[in-house]
Amino acid sequence: MNANRLRTHTEPTVLFVDMNSFFASCEQQDNHWLRGRPVAVCVYTGRQGCVIAPSIEAKGRGVKTGMRLDEAMQLCPDLVPVETHPSRYRDYHVKLINVLKRFADEVLPKSIDEAIVDLTRYQLAYPSMTDVARRIKQAIRTDVGDYLRCSIGIAPNAFLAKLASTLQKPDGLTIISPANIDDVLAKLTLTDLPGIAHGMSARLEAGGINTPLELRYASPDRLKLVCKSIVGWHWHLRLNFGGEVDMATQAYKQMQAIRSVSGAQRQSVETLHTILRTLCLTLERRMVRQQLFCQRLQGWVRYWNGKRYEDELTVSIPMQDGIDLYTTLCSRMDNYQQAHRCTPLLNADVRQIGVGVTDFMPADMVQYDLFEDNTRKDKFRQTLYAINDRFGPNTLVRATQIRPETPVKELIGFGSIKDLHDITDWEAV
Ligand SMILES: [Mg+2]
Repeated sequence: MNANRLRTHTEPTVLFVDMNSFFASCEQQDNHWLRGRPVAVCVYTGRQGCVIAPSIEAKGRGVKTGMRLDEAMQLCPDLVPVETHPSRYRDYHVKLINVLKRFADEVLPKSIDEAIVDLTRYQLAYPSMTDVARRIKQAIRTDVGDYLRCSIGIAPNAFLAKLASTLQKPDGLTIISPANIDDVLAKLTLTDLPGIAHGMSARLEAGGINTPLELRYASPDRLKLVCKSIVGWHWHLRLNFGGEVDMATQAYKQMQAIRSVSGAQRQSVETLHTILRTLCLTLERRMVRQQLFCQRLQGWVRYWNGKRYEDELTVSIPMQDGIDLYTTLCSRMDNYQQAHRCTPLLNADVRQIGVGVTDFMPADMVQYDLFEDNTRKDKFRQTLYAINDRFGPNTLVRATQIRPETPVKELIGFGSIKDLHDITDWEAV
């Protein structure tokens, strides 16, 4: 997918597909008895359990994500609590992506229930983008599940397409183009824009930019002044059909953590694993600081004999957790070793280990109701770093980081200058 178009592109050829009440709809898809009823998907269905995904019917009755189950039951006494089935949602996600890929090669999953379909190269094949969108909706009903609905936004870039997909739910189909963008923006507030949270909105308002329309027509100089960074200008570009097609934050292109391995360290496989895990946790810390999740992960090992092992993968569910990064890289190393029947990749010949993350996505665009109890896990990470910010690094560390027998020091990244800046920030606290 062409992530960075250099010139402004004004044809609405990018589709953003957002499944409506995805988890609850998957449950209703598989269980006819749940159809038409207000359903609340919960990690745990005790009284204090938390609703992570209400069905369309439950939303209509006022049930919201994040409510406690007893509160939700008071509001909607016939609510049906259902426990999560992550593998079910993953299966439907895979089916969905496969259906979308029938329409274009350029399909980019953005979360478990969202994907971008870039039809820019298919303008001759599809004379009407709304027709394609209707065909996609139909294909989802016939080939993924007849109870599944989606909202599709169509626009010249992914940011505006995502915005368009939020404007009509459920089963929406909305276009944003140069002809109607001002009318659309006039009805919205700053925080209605995907990725603009309260902090950013407060900063813009303090600088006299109170609405999305004012943001669209503000000058670059004014925006730089107001936001004290290039970020405001990026929002402006997105609202003016310029900038990136992809929504990945451009401020950070890549983060890397690299470590040279000493003679003593390479003698112990366990120490090599500790180093790899520490590198992953270093990247986790930087992503939490920058409020980013990554969609692409790289791992590499350099050996004294000049050889190199390299791995790179795209993940359909954005990642931030260091231990998740570590286990992903390890299981791929295991597969590699088995497939090629070679000696362990982490061995006494290792000279350097590196991990990189890229294709970032702002944390507030990552659906928190993903799997199992990610909300709690993400919150835990934020809290951990907030406490360390106040009381000094390593006030709190996870059990997996405690390895007194093999101390591994904090690492300096060798990525972009922003990476170094980030490290300096961290050392200053
Ligand atoms: Mg959705």
